[in-house]
Amino acid sequence: MAREVPTPIRAQVAALREQIRDADHRYYVLDDPSLSDSQYDEIYRELVALETAWPEVVAADSPTQRVPGVLGEGFQPFQHPSPMVSLDNVTNAEQFHDWVASGDRYLRSEDPRRYSVEPKIDGIGLELIYQDGVLVTAATRGDGLVGEDVTTNARTIRSVPQRLRGPNVPEWIAVRGECYCRKKDFFAFNRAAEEAGERTFANPRNFVGGSLRMLDSTVPASRPIRYFAYALGGVRGATYGSQGELMAALQELGLPTIPEARVLDGADAVAARYIELVEARESVPYEMDGVVIKVDDAALQERMGMRTRSPVWAVAWKFPAQRALTKLNDVDWQVGRTGVVTPRAILEPVFLAGVTVSHATLHNLDELERLQLKIGDEVEIERAGDVIPKVLRALDDQRSGDEREIQIPTTCPACATVLHRDEGKVALRCGNFACPAQIKRHLAHFAGRGALDVRGLGEKQIEQLLREGLVQDAADLFYLEEDALAALDRWGVKSAQNVLAQLEAARTRPLDRFLVGLGIREVGERGGKILARAFGTLAGVQAATKEELLELDEVGEAMADSVLDWFSEPRNQAMLERMRAAGVAPAEVAVAAGGAFEGLTLVLTGKLEELSRDEAKRLVEAQGGRAASSISKRTDLLVAGPGAGSKLKKAEELGIEVVDEAEFLRRAGRV
Ligand SMILES: [Zn+2]
Repeated sequence: MAREVPTPIRAQVAALREQIRDADHRYYVLDDPSLSDSQYDEIYRELVALETAWPEVVAADSPTQRVPGVLGEGFQPFQHPSPMVSLDNVTNAEQFHDWVASGDRYLRSEDPRRYSVEPKIDGIGLELIYQDGVLVTAATRGDGLVGEDVTTNARTIRSVPQRLRGPNVPEWIAVRGECYCRKKDFFAFNRAAEEAGERTFANPRNFVGGSLRMLDSTVPASRPIRYFAYALGGVRGATYGSQGELMAALQELGLPTIPEARVLDGADAVAARYIELVEARESVPYEMDGVVIKVDDAALQERMGMRTRSPVWAVAWKFPAQRALTKLNDVDWQVGRTGVVTPRAILEPVFLAGVTVSHATLHNLDELERLQLKIGDEVEIERAGDVIPKVLRALDDQRSGDEREIQIPTTCPACATVLHRDEGKVALRCGNFACPAQIKRHLAHFAGRGALDVRGLGEKQIEQLLREGLVQDAADLFYLEEDALAALDRWGVKSAQNVLAQLEAARTRPLDRFLVGLGIREVGERGGKILARAFGTLAGVQAATKEELLELDEVGEAMADSVLDWFSEPRNQAMLERMRAAGVAPAEVAVAAGGAFEGLTLVLTGKLEELSRDEAKRLVEAQGGRAASSISKRTDLLVAGPGAGSKLKKAEELGIEVVDEAEFLRRAGRV
């Protein structure tokens, strides 16, 4: 007879399951993890332990009984040719040797104890399917059985070959691997996004996940995403005898593989390699969160087989959490390009994961409020996933009473202007246009990689130009003269000529990047593209009315107001005028030429049967048109499906041509 399970046990099991489901949803669907991997593993283990002790509580819908995940919206589901399995984890040498011993039971004494050892990359799993050597599908892992078809976006990743190379291209192959972003690229992206007032990402994994699931593939195309292949989902027309052989074959096919991967004999060599990789963690250009160990020989893998949800022949050995305790010595306040003043923790230097950490981000006032820090507090900091260390918590039970409250500044640390808080926003802001800290950051942004890309003009050089009085705003950069530059400390004629040549080229950079460089609030990488595509020229953007801006998809009230504010500011108008006089003429953006909807503005309304709304919009753009969200006199064509209401009525009033979805598809050349 079944035991009576005590109520507190039932409650605990239910709570753990809920936590795991919630974390899974955040991780798989939202790409916004709520728990660190080690926290997740801990909860998962706790649930497994309870379910083992009390088998009566195991239910079919427990997260331990299935591989979790729900599909996002907007992408077609894709059934993997074979399940994309997850790996069991070990966290220390003892558990690793236990795993080796449990695997040894499947092996005969003459079988090789040979293992493939690869860094475990903190990215997003992606399967690539090649038919006759041509990339036909790319899909995310999803729940392991069904993922999302992200082919359009994956095609924009430069390290994903569109076509396989070499003499041994198999008839059909499903390659598995990881999309990731190098740490320094991630860091540079976030810094630029922060300065542009755009969304930043917590870690490279979120960044890659978010980018792959963008509905507009021009965004991932402009982002520094890379790919490593490391496994096989299936193959026809070839066989690979081992993991090492597979990696060599993938390389030969032109797929990127992990340079730090090794094939090693014996468990001791594997353990030694693990330690090497832990030590190399900081110097390797991408984030690793552990090591994946596979039995190398394919026949032995076959013999060892699968457990319910993971292979017996492979395991992930996680890296230790990168946390440390130190003291919060002070908080300083930094002024960003748009005048946002943010707090930064000054820490007692502490050695953490290979580097000395003396600063950590505190993000904003809300975060400060949440952490309830005091100066002098013992704090716990973390460098897991994140490139910039962050403060996790204060050890408030360790307080001596000598700690001081953090003073939130009332004036700008750079120019002493009284700070204000925008209504409903968490940011403190310095509103002084002439604030030296803002000008310096703005010029560095204007000349930076995401904008005009003027090599040789970094923050240091800009500081020098400002200090010497050679520039006061971005327009002044185009009036610099060789003699004055060459005379600067550490410059010389050669550097001066180089920078002037760079500035010459910068005069005709694409409009979207020029717009990004202006530093209009709310207008970053994406916003610049939207405006450039819609209006084509700088004069066009400058003349745009609020109605025209709001008509654009993805342009909301805040961005429209911000654009109007920026261009109506006399100081900015004067700066643009001086730039024009100096020959600055951003390259106009041509709409896709020759498309069926070239130069036309379309509006979609009602229910579409064949295409999703987003697919229809992409089709409009691909054919050179513009998909607007509301009807106006500028609308050329309304595509109306069943259930169309007020937009249809308005279009008829304005005498705008109305077509149904079938006609729309026909005109787009889709039928
Ligand atoms: Zn200031």
